[in-house]
Order: sequence, then C-alpha cells, then structure tokens
Amino acid sequence: MNITFERVSKYFDRAKTLQDVDFQIEDGEFFTLLGPSGCGKTTLLRTIAGFYKQEEGNIYFGDRLMNGVPAHRRNIGMVFQNYAIFPHMSVFDNVAYGLKARRVNKAETERRVMEALELVELAHLRGRSPSEMSGGQQQRIALARAVVIRPALLLMDEPLSNLDAKLRIKMRSDIRALQQELGITTIYVTHDQEEALAVSDRIAVMHGGVVQQIGSPQDIYMYPENRIVANFIGTSNFLEAEVSGYDAATGGALLRLPPDQAFRLTLAKAYEGKALLSIRPENVNISGELTRDGQFRGQVQQGSFLGGKVHYTVHIGNGRMIEVERHLTERHELFKAHQGVYLDFQLERAILYDAKGEEVLGHGSTRA
Ligand code: ATP
Repeated sequence: MNITFERVSKYFDRAKTLQDVDFQIEDGEFFTLLGPSGCGKTTLLRTIAGFYKQEEGNIYFGDRLMNGVPAHRRNIGMVFQNYAIFPHMSVFDNVAYGLKARRVNKAETERRVMEALELVELAHLRGRSPSEMSGGQQQRIALARAVVIRPALLLMDEPLSNLDAKLRIKMRSDIRALQQELGITTIYVTHDQEEALAVSDRIAVMHGGVVQQIGSPQDIYMYPENRIVANFIGTSNFLEAEVSGYDAATGGALLRLPPDQAFRLTLAKAYEGKALLSIRPENVNISGELTRDGQFRGQVQQGSFLGGKVHYTVHIGNGRMIEVERHLTERHELFKAHQGVYLDFQLERAILYDAKGEEVLGHGSTRA
C-alpha cells in the first residue's frame, strides 16, 4: 500500500512542527525518516498513525483519505523504542494480544502467533516471561506482535535505541530481512544516519519540520541537495569559494579557492559570486610532501587511529580546519600531531553550493 502526503502541516501552540510535507511512499518500500532530535520525525509518524491530527493537508493510504480516521482503524503495526510489551504475560500471549482484540478464533490465533514467532526466531521461547529476556529478544517480541495482525503498514520509532551497538547492527539487518520477506510498507524513524543508510530503500532527511531531501541512501550521501543534508549525513568540509566568468553557452565557470587555487567547473545554472565547495573527508588526500603545485599546506592538529582507517583534523591557516579520512593501506604513513602535510582535494567528488549552502550549483570540477 502506498502512502501519500499532500501539503501536510502540523502545529503545536502555533509553532509549525511539520511544514508542507508533500511526498509519496511506494508500496513495499522501507522508508526512513531521518533527522536530528526535534526535527519532527516522531510527530510525522504519530500523525500517520492517527495519534495526532494535522491542521493542514491530506494523508492517503492507497486511494483512501485518512484524515479523521481513528488510530485503531488504520490497520497499522507499531514498534517503539521501549518495546511496550506486557511483562506479566508470556511471549505467546504478548504476540496474541492484537488477535484477541480482533476476535480471531483460537486455532487461527495459535497458527498466526507461531508463524510470527518463527519469523523472529522465538518460537522455542513461547512460554517464557519477557521479563527474563534480553533487550534484543524483547524487541523481537514487539516486532512479532506488530506483524501478527498483518498490518497494511509497519511503523517503527527508534526501535533499536535501547540496544547495545553490536546487537543494533544484527537487529537492523534482521528487521530489513523480515520486512523484505513480508513485503510490507514500512516507515522507520531514526536519528542514526548509519542505520538509515544501511536499511532503507529511500530516506527523507528532515530538519526543522521540513523535508530537506528524499532519495536512496547512495543519492543522499553522494548528492546532498543542501548544506544541512551534507552536514547531517556523514561530515563535509566546506570551503569558501568564488565563482566568476560564467559562460552561458557551455555552462562553464571559473572557481577560485583562496589563497591561490583555481578550477574549471560546469554549473547547472547561471551563477557568479561567493559559493561553498563541499568535500567529504574521504575525498581529501594527504601526504608528507608537495606532489603537485597548488596543494593546500597544513598542519595536523589531531590524528585518530580508527582501525581500518585514520582520521585527521588539519589546520590550513586562518583557523580553517579540514577533516581528512584515509583508509589504511600498506603505503599510508601515519602523520603525527603538529606535522606539516599537504592536502589534495578530489575535486571530481566535490559539490558546489551557493553562498548560503541552500542550492547545488554544480558537481565536480577540474583544475584550471
Ligand atoms: P526526537 O528524536 O527527539 O523524538 P523528533 O525529530 O522525533 O525528535 P518530534 O518529537 O517530532 O521530534 O518533535 C518536534 C517538535 O515538536 C519539537 O520541537 C517538540 O518539542 C515539539 N513537540 C512534539 N510533540 C509535542 C507535543 N505533544 N506538544 C507540544 N510540542 C510538541
């Protein structure tokens, strides 16, 4: 079942918590709402569930307008951060709960609960009390309880936040596998960008109640449409730049990076003036000696050894810092704090934004 938002806005005490949310989630999609705390993702999820009413706009499940339909008539399965399972009931009874409420008969209940417990690999623990079980197992019970009612839509709000790092990684791939097996449209809320990139078909990045960008994990990471997204998904270096000499016939322009570097690039639209060049830390090369004219000279402020890779913060003058991340190969020498280094930007991977970082002007560039 696809879900459509048409200019949905929601206010709390006149503050606009959701602003003109307008997009569609496809049938069977694993769709993630991603953003920092307070960006409105839980509010949007609760509005979809029918716990909140939007003041403006429409929400459709398939062709059906859902405005005003109460939560219990929306046929939704939900999983929350705190599991919300009943500690005094057995695993089986927890999962059977929603079927009892729907007056499903005993034999059918038995069959469906066991099927759901098989899916989450807990069938052998059906008689246990959840209070004797680990956080990961409790979250599996919650998952089984959400899918046993065969909902048209599965909503999950930070379901893995209470689990330790290793279990989170295992559970997220289990959740993804389960979702694919059932083919159920799923909306997943998280503030964890790595989690979002790992599980989603598509992601909506939210900030300040506004959907900033929607795309596949690769799209969002490789082509963030504004500075907010570039900063929230991974990290980015931003360098002040100046665009001049725009040529309408070719779209070409000259980009200057102070103090003395110049590049050619092709712009997506006419533009001259101040701009921001964004480069990911993994797209900056670092070396101990000058290998080419025009490289940035800098001094290592800090180096962190991260196992398979190293992260450096390099001062390039006037208080400007560049984050650099290199995978460790046999050839990579480790640089120490205060060591002089040279930086080389992989400009074909850079993105140029306008001065405010609100709009993409062009992707990649070559040296002038
Ligand atoms: P978190 O990850 O911290 O839950 P979030 O992105 O899910 O963040 P929301 O919980 O949707 O954010 O909150 C968005 C904004 O709306 C916040 O500024 C919050 O204070 C406000 N808000 C949320 N719920 C209510 C409410 N019931 N009454 C008043 N304001 C609310």
